[in-house]
Amino acid sequence: MLAVVKEKPGPGFAVKDAPYPALREDDVIIKVRSVGICGTDGPILAGTREVPYPLIPGHEFAGDIVEVGSRVKGLKEGDRVTPCIVIGCGDCDMCIEGKEVLCDHLIETGIHVDGAFAEYVRVPAKVCRKMQDTTTYDQGASVDPIASAYRTVKASSITSKDVCVVYGPGPIGLYAVQLIRLRGAKTVICVGTDADAKRLALAEELGADVTINASVEDPVERVREITGGKMADYVQDCVGVPGVPEAAMNMLKKGGSYAVTGLYHSVPQVDLGKVVRSEINIYGTICYTRREFEECLHLVEEGRVKVEPLITHHFPLREMEEAFAVMQSKQCMKIIMHP
Ligand SMILES: [Zn+2]
Ligand SMILES: [Zn+2]
Repeated sequence: MLAVVKEKPGPGFAVKDAPYPALREDDVIIKVRSVGICGTDGPILAGTREVPYPLIPGHEFAGDIVEVGSRVKGLKEGDRVTPCIVIGCGDCDMCIEGKEVLCDHLIETGIHVDGAFAEYVRVPAKVCRKMQDTTTYDQGASVDPIASAYRTVKASSITSKDVCVVYGPGPIGLYAVQLIRLRGAKTVICVGTDADAKRLALAEELGADVTINASVEDPVERVREITGGKMADYVQDCVGVPGVPEAAMNMLKKGGSYAVTGLYHSVPQVDLGKVVRSEINIYGTICYTRREFEECLHLVEEGRVKVEPLITHHFPLREMEEAFAVMQSKQCMKIIMHP
């Protein structure tokens, strides 16, 4: 079968023939129909994030079941499914608490084991969620990034009186905008830079009341203006770069929350004095649980979260080089590959 294989550390990847996955008794084999390129696939394909080699990446996907293991119940050949990336052991304290994303033996499809940049992928049956007949494969492939934004919003205490700021209008940020809107926040503000002009326009289409271009205006001063000096109740960081925590501390009101979805690869400065004196609540969330994945699939199926405006490019899988170049150029939002 055709697959994108990351064979060794460093730059470069191969688009080549790879072995069809062997079926195991608790697993299913899925014919991949749509698979999104995620922000985390960038460093994996570029070779700056280490993974077990060789690896077929790809974890935002949907497709049709073509084979079912002997012990699998409730799924059959032909079912249209989207699988959750998170595979917990099921037995540790975190798994028992329903926080399998914190499992000590966590396995993630496309990161620790072969994923969906391939014609076929094997996943445990337990992580598959059936899609309605009217749900598209592209919608199914979009549940993963929605759920990453959702776990952060779900853990918040956003109310109808709240002014909420989303940093970073990438796919996760634009889903955060929609999810915060659904929570009924009073005002949603999205912050980007010059390079994000199109993305900020899209943020407004998807529910942001105000957008701020941090390249030309000071986001803290703009938030002060918008709130009449009261400042923000909640800042969701969907960027993960130094500078954002400092700005967040300055735009939050007393008792506000700084919620981190973006993955930090360097250590930012945070004014803990302000955290103490103003009782700022700081928390982060990583990925999502199967429950949250299912809740997000419902949101998409009910039309409450829109994915289509975020999908800017489609490529056949064999054109991964071209797709990766588009991704590196940042002239895109979500790219969907079709094996
Ligand atoms: Zn992803
Ligand atoms: Zn576990």
